[in-house]
Amino acid sequence: MIRIDGSQGEGGGQILRTALALSACTGQTLLIENIRAKRKKPGLMRQHLSCVHAVQEICSATVEGDAISSQTLRFEPGQIRAGAYHFAVGSAGSAMLVLQSALPPLLLAGKPSQLILEGGTHNPMSPPFHFISEVFVPALAKIGFNCSCEIERWGFYPAGGGKLRVTATPASGKLKHADLCTPGKFNGSSVLAAVSKIPWEIGDDECKTVVNAADFAVNEMKTLAVDSPGPGNIVMLRLDYENCSAMFTGFGELGVSRKKVAAAVYREANRFYKSAAAVDPHLADQLLLPMALAGGGCFTTTEPTEHTLTNMKIIEMFLPVSHEISQVSAKLWKLTMQAVERQAEKQCFA
Ligand code: ATP
Repeated sequence: MIRIDGSQGEGGGQILRTALALSACTGQTLLIENIRAKRKKPGLMRQHLSCVHAVQEICSATVEGDAISSQTLRFEPGQIRAGAYHFAVGSAGSAMLVLQSALPPLLLAGKPSQLILEGGTHNPMSPPFHFISEVFVPALAKIGFNCSCEIERWGFYPAGGGKLRVTATPASGKLKHADLCTPGKFNGSSVLAAVSKIPWEIGDDECKTVVNAADFAVNEMKTLAVDSPGPGNIVMLRLDYENCSAMFTGFGELGVSRKKVAAAVYREANRFYKSAAAVDPHLADQLLLPMALAGGGCFTTTEPTEHTLTNMKIIEMFLPVSHEISQVSAKLWKLTMQAVERQAEKQCFA
């Protein structure tokens, strides 16, 4: 059994999601305590419970402690089953975070699976749908996993109500070690804003502000008025390189000017562009798990976040891999993941 202290490192929901996914992938029972201890309202919230129940269904797990506010969970996984699944976060919780837990076991299921997810598709502090479909999914393909995502309805916080479809196809051959140490040639960038139940001009102004302030070419600019159950506004800037893409996002909020929303996006993107890193800070923490399923890989990124550092530790508890991080220059870090030797592997599973 793997026993995890959920208060370590970033001490939030990601520890739970990574641990659930890896419990299912490796068949090891998980006991997690102090769940989300570093959050204002610790324990399982509805969105986290949706993750628990989604992975439970995928691998027929026996679960104890799956209740709102619970800070301890025991998860005994069974066999992973490919199939057609439908998971709904019964609130504005992020459907994309449910995918973070549900996708890895399905990528090992032997046959393709179809998922319908309902909930938030564009929530603050979560990967937006477009980040998953345009940045994460292409990075997964480098490892050999093939996914496709389609959005049917946008869901913004707090109303939620979004819907997406995902097809997860396990690798047909041997998994590959992703090598994203250099981004390769810069192929340009595009900015997309979306608005729901607020003036289209707000999104258009955000896009123009980003285009004017970016330190690099922005080749495409689009603002969509989308049909969503509640009001919402997001602006997403995608940078495309020969080897990968990166995305930076800002969310409109009541009382925050459109200029400020756009500034958060171009400042982060300009910093990333100058760094010469291949992997953006959000992709960095999310890529670790699929990379570990392949037994290793490497990438360059900006200063590792607490999410990345914590995810490394959780992954090492389940899988025989180790990580090394070195600072290459003032703004550039290199992360290498390697399979560990047999002896160490035994200790890792002890
Ligand atoms: P809590 O800690 O309250 O439980 P949580 O469950 O919502 O929060 P976190 O532990 O904070 O989640 O993890 C958030 C995840 O969302 C991380 O993988 C992070 O990289 C990802 N994420 C957050 N913002 C973005 C963004 N703008 N683009 C892509 N991914 C993002």
